[in-house]
Amino acid sequence: MEYSRLVSVYEALEATTSKLEKTEIVAEFLREVPEELLEIIPSLLIGKVFPEWSDLELGVGPGLLYEAVSFVCGIPVAEVKRQVARAGDVGQAVEQMLAKKVQLTLFSRKLLVREVYEAFKKIALATGSGSQDRKIRTLADLLASASPREGKYLVRTVLGELRVGVAEGLLRDAIARAFNVSVSAVERAYMIANDFGVVARTAKRDGESGLAEIKMQVGRPIRPMLAQLAPSIEKVFEELGRAALEIKYDGARVQIHKRGDEVRIFSRRLENVTSALPDIAGRAARAIKAEEAIVEGEAVAIDPETRRPRAFQDILRRFRRKYNVEEMVREIPFETYLFDILYLEGEVMIDLPFEKRRGALKKIVEEERGKFELAEQLITGDVRQAHEFYSRALARGHEGMMIKNLRAPYIPGARVGYMYKVKPVMETLDLVITGAIWGTGKRAGWLSSYILAARDEDTGELLEVGRVGTGVTEEQLAEFTERLKPLIEFEEAGVVRLKPSLVVEVAYQEIQRSPNYASGFALRFPRVVRIRDDKSPEEADTVQRVRQLYEMQRQVR
Ligand code: AMP
Repeated sequence: MEYSRLVSVYEALEATTSKLEKTEIVAEFLREVPEELLEIIPSLLIGKVFPEWSDLELGVGPGLLYEAVSFVCGIPVAEVKRQVARAGDVGQAVEQMLAKKVQLTLFSRKLLVREVYEAFKKIALATGSGSQDRKIRTLADLLASASPREGKYLVRTVLGELRVGVAEGLLRDAIARAFNVSVSAVERAYMIANDFGVVARTAKRDGESGLAEIKMQVGRPIRPMLAQLAPSIEKVFEELGRAALEIKYDGARVQIHKRGDEVRIFSRRLENVTSALPDIAGRAARAIKAEEAIVEGEAVAIDPETRRPRAFQDILRRFRRKYNVEEMVREIPFETYLFDILYLEGEVMIDLPFEKRRGALKKIVEEERGKFELAEQLITGDVRQAHEFYSRALARGHEGMMIKNLRAPYIPGARVGYMYKVKPVMETLDLVITGAIWGTGKRAGWLSSYILAARDEDTGELLEVGRVGTGVTEEQLAEFTERLKPLIEFEEAGVVRLKPSLVVEVAYQEIQRSPNYASGFALRFPRVVRIRDDKSPEEADTVQRVRQLYEMQRQVR
């Protein structure tokens, strides 16, 4: 299939805002896609190249991209930047620059979807010395054989900003429609396979029964189940009756996959972090008494002297460590508290009620006190006991308490009312920085004010909810500037537009309705709490969640 066919679908999607029409366009297109391309095209439709579980990542920022464009179009990089700023959109600017170039070159070859994918793979696989140059060269080759309209979507894909208004929900509905299977079957299969390509191909080939048979694979991470903020301990108990209370450990989530002696550990972002965590891997290999299992828990760094959990940054430092890992293991020792099991000896466990899963987990883990154990738990229907449990957890320096529905299945990637968290501080939001403003006076030379955006669940678009600037320390200014500079796409009316990449946790005093921001909401007195390197922009909080918090806040008043 020619890439231009996919581009015409992108164009059709961009031309309508109707969800129904978009679903129909995608469904019809998927029906026409040959089976061997069904592995890659669904992801490309939502602007992603590789499935979430994959280790592959393009790793191309605006800087590299502009060099490639400069090379292909024979224009200096500075001029490329000027054109992008003038157009106010990287895709459009590249389309225009390529159009001028095409007039000069005579031949044009038809670019195939498969070729585009292979080139992206080559870019992702380029590592080590000289890899930047190789990435630029491959990208330049690709753009050289692209038509102007193809170029527009190629660069948008590279920057992770396709902007055709198709998010996962819509893609899921379209797959169901295309191959005449139920939405719930597609949804469940996606939870397990974590790969729209596999789901689409199976739906086409084997229909609903095929989807039901998709197996979890040890070594392929599953999206984590997430918690909802408890409106209050009382309300949750009214809803659930008896429930499991657990300590909410303040660490980083780990998904541990074990087959035989081999253990792999994945972060919340589904990155393979095994090599940074040999201590946890070793303990898991010894303590998990099963041939094959996937379990989940929280890795916490406890200060050996104070017995209190350490700062989150310390934990992330360990997760990202590539060299001298052993030294780091000694410096920041981890304790692991397991709280769930997803797979055991060939059996998918996610449909079982939590109570059963916890039972199964207990059976296969030989606990090692203070090193590798199950999360502390109390099953009760007594609200008073819950308050006591919560106070004790806080007094010991933990983040809070989880209240879990004993009957709930494991639902990855969704914040359903099955698992609640109770924390003392007001709920923060994890938002994507999509823009920034250069400082003036003492802050000249620093990117000192940041545009915060939440994701629209329906369209995948990032919509502004506010700006944060005050209260940023000098140290943070330096860190943010350093982290954001490579993400600069262009400058427009004094505002620097950034490739969406960095996620920050933001505290605020209140959420207000606002006609000034695209999201319809504005944060009052926002303040950056920390950078969330453990979250990708796709995992940032959604506009829908902002609305939910806004409504909750009104109820409380
Ligand atoms: P939050 O990130 O604030 O939405 O809270 C959910 C996170 O709390 C999970 O992703 C886990 O990483 C963490 N967590 C800590 N302790 C537990 C526990 N006992 N059960 C489930 N999640 C926990």
